[in-house]
Amino acid sequence: MVLKAVKMRIYPNFGQRDRLMQTFGCTRFVWNQMLNTQIERRKNNPEAKFVNAFDINNLLKRLKEEYPWLKQAESTALQSANRNLADAFQRFFKGQNKFPHFKSRKYAQSYNSKYVNHNIKVIDDHHIKLPKLGVVYFRSGRLPQGKIKNVTVRLTAANQYYITVLAECENQTLPKTGKYAGGDLGLKSLLNLSDGYKEPIHHFEDKYRKKLHHWEKLHSRRYLLAKQAIAWDYHNKVSAPRQLDDFKNYQKARVMVAKYHQKIANQRLDQLQKLTTKLVKQYDIIVLEKLNIKGMLKNHKLVSILQYKCDWYGKKLIQVNPSYTSQICINCGQNNHRLDLNKSKWLDVREWDCPNCGSHLDRDINAVKVILNKGLAIQ
Ligand SMILES: [Zn+2]
Repeated sequence: MVLKAVKMRIYPNFGQRDRLMQTFGCTRFVWNQMLNTQIERRKNNPEAKFVNAFDINNLLKRLKEEYPWLKQAESTALQSANRNLADAFQRFFKGQNKFPHFKSRKYAQSYNSKYVNHNIKVIDDHHIKLPKLGVVYFRSGRLPQGKIKNVTVRLTAANQYYITVLAECENQTLPKTGKYAGGDLGLKSLLNLSDGYKEPIHHFEDKYRKKLHHWEKLHSRRYLLAKQAIAWDYHNKVSAPRQLDDFKNYQKARVMVAKYHQKIANQRLDQLQKLTTKLVKQYDIIVLEKLNIKGMLKNHKLVSILQYKCDWYGKKLIQVNPSYTSQICINCGQNNHRLDLNKSKWLDVREWDCPNCGSHLDRDINAVKVILNKGLAIQ
């Protein structure tokens, strides 16, 4: 059995959006209240232990009596807010992260629903039933075929709704092809494969540069104007000073900027998804170089997607030590790292001749083949 998570955009109707906002608000309220309780307890009695998830859930019952409107929210979502808080405290005590902080509406617009008693159900290729929401429409994406564990609903800065469905699925292995590939995460192309294929780098941001620039300008101008207006209200002691929410044009610009950033990110991710699916379908073993920190920042998404797809489909990803891969000759195996070439010059060399056996080598193709051999040697 493997756990699969699938993220897709949903299109809730007006009523559903209201209920979503309500649940976002309630889970945030519960998190903040519980956090506050913990802090106050410690203030009164520094010896007091932080309560665990079970105790917090008992407190939740009392909180619901005190604030009856919490009962309108999805109940498993409130419990998972508690669980997250307990986890956050645990990680804090282990020194893994900072003290949990209060959540503001600006950042936290999500909640997690647990599967209980068929409250989450796939209806057909375009509809899913979610707790307290009913049937919600989605345009594209394939839900995992398996036992649904939970669903996270999220509202992004671009005012779009997404769900991430986590399901326990049967291990579906793809048929073995008997083929292996070495790959090099390049500078000029996203990925060079040992079969000669080069995945191009698309500059998706170029497509939206003009529009993005236009909205970014409006965004910063309107932000300043709104801030000035708010300051004016406070200075003149207006009874109900305006908030950033009240400036519709500013909000529109903010959403537009987020929308274009989201579009660019979606297209980038789409390219990675298609590429990695192709790789696991075509090859049984894929060998890549182990990335350094700089490469990790740039390419870690490709590697991590490829890793989980290999796990899902019974294929293998091997990462090898990258040293000298471009200087070892694929034909005779000689390591030519002492070649009389300084590093900056070597980066420009596209083709070279092996001093040992005389083979004429294409730098990229030779390197990916060496990577493949290194991987196959240690598999
Ligand atoms: Zn050679």
